[in-house]
Amino acid sequence: MGSVGRKIIGMDIEELISLLNRAFADEWLAHYQYWMGAKLAKGPMKDAIIAELTLHAADEMRHATMVAARIIQLGGTPLIRPEDWYKHANCSYDAPEDPYVRTLLEQNIKGEQCAIGVYNSLLNITRDKDIVTYEMVATILKDEVEHEEDLESLLEDLDLMMKKRG
Ligand code: FE
Ligand code: FE
Ligand code: MG
Repeated sequence: MGSVGRKIIGMDIEELISLLNRAFADEWLAHYQYWMGAKLAKGPMKDAIIAELTLHAADEMRHATMVAARIIQLGGTPLIRPEDWYKHANCSYDAPEDPYVRTLLEQNIKGEQCAIGVYNSLLNITRDKDIVTYEMVATILKDEVEHEEDLESLLEDLDLMMKKRG
């Protein structure tokens, strides 16, 4: 990154890079969890749920791309080895071992809630310190809030449908 671009950051850049790498690991694991879930899903409302999981998988990959670009711009290196994702992730990876749609929705809601916490804390850390990262984090946080709501409303519809059927 340019020297002035670096100078305007009012916090420890190495510390910031390491926090961004943790979020980067979260995004890849979230991408894979959605991607795999979309392939395996079984049960009522499968088509609607697979469509949503597929969209979210693409969003998480887009987030990984955004975070990686900022890490590189800050002079850092995104985690190069997938085995490091597990070591650095804030949010755990929930393998979609049970392909039932309700279980998948619950697992991914938990993941989104973790992501919201991570990005909210990154917002607080970068506020008034690094506006460029702050704005990127705000954009991603908006997506994660929407993801949680999308999944919760699918879960609600699924439960209403099951109740009606008795
Ligand atoms: Fe994300
Ligand atoms: Fe998300
Ligand atoms: Mg959505």
